[in-house]
Amino acid sequence: MITSSVAELSRSLLARRLSSIELTGSLLDRIETANPTLNAFLTIDREGAMSQAKAADARIAAGTASPLTGIPLAHKDVIMTEGLRTTCGSRMLENFVAPYSAFVAERLARAGMVTVGKTNMDEFAMGSSNENSYFGPVRNPWNTTCVAGGSSGGSAAAVAARLVPAATGTDTGGSIRQPAALSGVCGLKPTYGVCSRYGLVALASSLDTPGVFGQTAEDCALLLNAMAGHDARDSTSLDRPAEDYARQLSENAGAKPLAGVRVGLPREYFGAGAEPDIVDAIETAIAGFRSLGATTVEVSLPNVDHSLPVYYVISPAEASSNLARFDGVRYGHRAAKYDDLTDMYKKTRAEGFGAEVKRRILIGTYVLSHGYYDAYYLKAQQVRRLIADDFRKAYQRCDVIVGPTSPTTAFCIGDNIDDPLKMYLNDIFTIASNLTGTPAISIPCGFDGKGLPIGLQIQGNAFAEAQILNVAHRYQQTTDWHRRVPAGFAP
Ligand code: GLN
Repeated sequence: MITSSVAELSRSLLARRLSSIELTGSLLDRIETANPTLNAFLTIDREGAMSQAKAADARIAAGTASPLTGIPLAHKDVIMTEGLRTTCGSRMLENFVAPYSAFVAERLARAGMVTVGKTNMDEFAMGSSNENSYFGPVRNPWNTTCVAGGSSGGSAAAVAARLVPAATGTDTGGSIRQPAALSGVCGLKPTYGVCSRYGLVALASSLDTPGVFGQTAEDCALLLNAMAGHDARDSTSLDRPAEDYARQLSENAGAKPLAGVRVGLPREYFGAGAEPDIVDAIETAIAGFRSLGATTVEVSLPNVDHSLPVYYVISPAEASSNLARFDGVRYGHRAAKYDDLTDMYKKTRAEGFGAEVKRRILIGTYVLSHGYYDAYYLKAQQVRRLIADDFRKAYQRCDVIVGPTSPTTAFCIGDNIDDPLKMYLNDIFTIASNLTGTPAISIPCGFDGKGLPIGLQIQGNAFAEAQILNVAHRYQQTTDWHRRVPAGFAP
């Protein structure tokens, strides 16, 4: 039961072979046992979860359940949850209790999911290792001396250690896919605008995308079905007809389920410095796609190399503006001692923010300042367009783009923390789809020589979620990487 997917648990719950009370209770026990080691959860809400589980069981008994009713879930602590602390991994919001819930949290609750708690993350979602959390790093369930990835490290580790079958995350430059890869789980970033950003603590508004972690592509589809939808409170939320993201998964496609699917292999992604074990695993996976009937085609993304510098202008620019609201006046931390208003602002922000957040605010303020705006911010936006054009052209020749999610597997806690540029390089393969707003998933595709998981990224054109989920699902039907459980957390 503990290692079952959402889809499997759902069948057991609906058939009344299992109750949500039993399931939620045993997962809470697992969370309480594992958390001192992993530090994946910042808040555990046993009381709230058990009462939601009771309500879910009643709904199942009444015959009004959805496929997600009674399934335990954790939210990344950037997602506001009414009445429950939302820290965003920061001292600034250490004691902040959200007055309302984020759209995606609301939607998943309405489907009947049970919120067991809030997961650890890099402060304000800035980071690739979860070492920037005010509450300490998350440890990787596969090797607890390693990072879980970031910024949604807590959600990734919680799913990897089978503490919850699914969790939410946000992805601004790779923060769902990179920790999914490093922790050996699936992580889906949908098309920008498909899930409302309402109620997320904002990092970079033109890039922030709520999404989901699960063991399988099928589970990601089930959660996306509940999370997607128009919301007038987010001006970039898209008003499109609802779709069933799992619709392609149940088609009986025979021995060659990927026949007709053109897999694009960007020459820029191969030879871009990924570790040799990763390159081997990706090549084996590509051979697997071919044997499932897919064809492969080399494509080129000539400007994709500029993704990283473009992102590290645009993202800090937007962050510096979004984080101006944390001034000690309305909510969050306020310095205890100060001389006047200006001094209160200064001391509050000096105390409330960690080093990486301050670094980004400084960079962002600089690139937006008079005299530098055209040279940096405007130029970055122009290059962003060129990158999007590259992808548009590539998708005329292929349906999905495949490659590694991250150039390395999980590294040791402390190893990269003093070298921000090296840390930023972790996102080299994930950032482009945030700049272009297109969907992408990371799925497990093997292990390196040290026994650490390797992630495969499948990207698609805007609104191609159903297709990338199908490609991932067909791969998972013929492999068992996603079924492996870290030794220390086997039930
Ligand atoms: N690692 C990237 C950063 O530090 C991406 C973060 C994210 O996606 N939230 O900004």
